[in-house]
Amino acid sequence: MTIPATLADVVRAIESLYPPRWAEPGDPIGLVVGDPSAEVRKIWFAVDAVQSVVDEAVKADADLLVVHHPLLFRAVSSVAATTPKGRVIHDLISHRVGLYVAHTNADSPPDGVSESMALALGLTDLEPLDPDGADPLDKIATFVPHPDAQRLVDALAAAGAGQIGDYDRCAFLTPGEGTYRPGAAAIPTIGSPGEIEVVDEARVEMVMARHLRGAVVRALRAAHPYEEPAFDVFELAAWSVDRGTGRVGLLSEPVSLREFSESVAAALPPTGVGARVSGDLDRKVQTVAVVGGSGDFMLDAARLRGVDVYVTSDLRHHPASEFREYADAPALVDVPHWSAEWTWLPVAQRALTRALAESGRTIESEVSRICTDPWNYRATGGATQ
Ligand SMILES: [Zn+2]
Repeated sequence: MTIPATLADVVRAIESLYPPRWAEPGDPIGLVVGDPSAEVRKIWFAVDAVQSVVDEAVKADADLLVVHHPLLFRAVSSVAATTPKGRVIHDLISHRVGLYVAHTNADSPPDGVSESMALALGLTDLEPLDPDGADPLDKIATFVPHPDAQRLVDALAAAGAGQIGDYDRCAFLTPGEGTYRPGAAAIPTIGSPGEIEVVDEARVEMVMARHLRGAVVRALRAAHPYEEPAFDVFELAAWSVDRGTGRVGLLSEPVSLREFSESVAAALPPTGVGARVSGDLDRKVQTVAVVGGSGDFMLDAARLRGVDVYVTSDLRHHPASEFREYADAPALVDVPHWSAEWTWLPVAQRALTRALAESGRTIESEVSRICTDPWNYRATGGATQ
């Protein structure tokens, strides 16, 4: 049986794939237009919420437009239909189309923008160019009389401890012996004031996201049978994950830069301007770094990683020129920003459809093919290349 999806259900599914906490600080991601209780039957995916895309979504009777780029980057004091963005907001609301933005939270993870681009270019053995640290984790260890151990595990799990991937209520219990002497004013659960007590206890260990530390400790104090439960909280060392800025991967065999750049241009959706290339066209390339979107800021990382070629967008004259002066500089392929990030749309479509199906919800969806790259023609003065 399928259950109709509400906008709130869809937002929950998107945010399970691309959690908002992975966004850069200040990046205006999330729900921009829409009523969480509205029903969503059809979702439209696009890079930019520009007028042509909104018109397309409205015409197709979509209920939600999911885009990569924020519509409202900076604070606005008006959404009157006198500006292009105001017009977009009016049209979305009057046709009951929601708008959701997944921007930098969708750049770094698996099924994210850079990974999608790397896969579209045929790269294998992918790893992040600049891995993110794992979400900070703590471990809590406490000591509890054996008969109460499973109940305590339940209480800590209910507060969010013991979550590891697709598993919950994960705990490790070790038998041991606890000993204490209650003070004169104590009201011990086991034992008597002034007398040494020895109790068969379990040491219970569970991991937890660091932001849950307070809630888990409160749950422990509430559920533990002792007046003064003993417990330790450890901060676990950070280690890298499969999430991060950009991707590095391998081509199945070395090819010339000329051949590679042509294959890149062919693999991405067409625009009017194609790809710009910097480097010896006969140079053989096999290791490739990619960053979806504007990638000036990762030039050094790509060079220090020792790749043969770096593929990204919006490279500017000075950073690119200075980069090329290094003897070990990779070649550069600068692709249209829109076409690079478009590769994420079908991946996000599949991932979201799957995530909703897991909760019994079926949606229709479509990826926009409208090219929203602002550049639509490269004038070469008649020169052939
Ligand atoms: Zn972008």
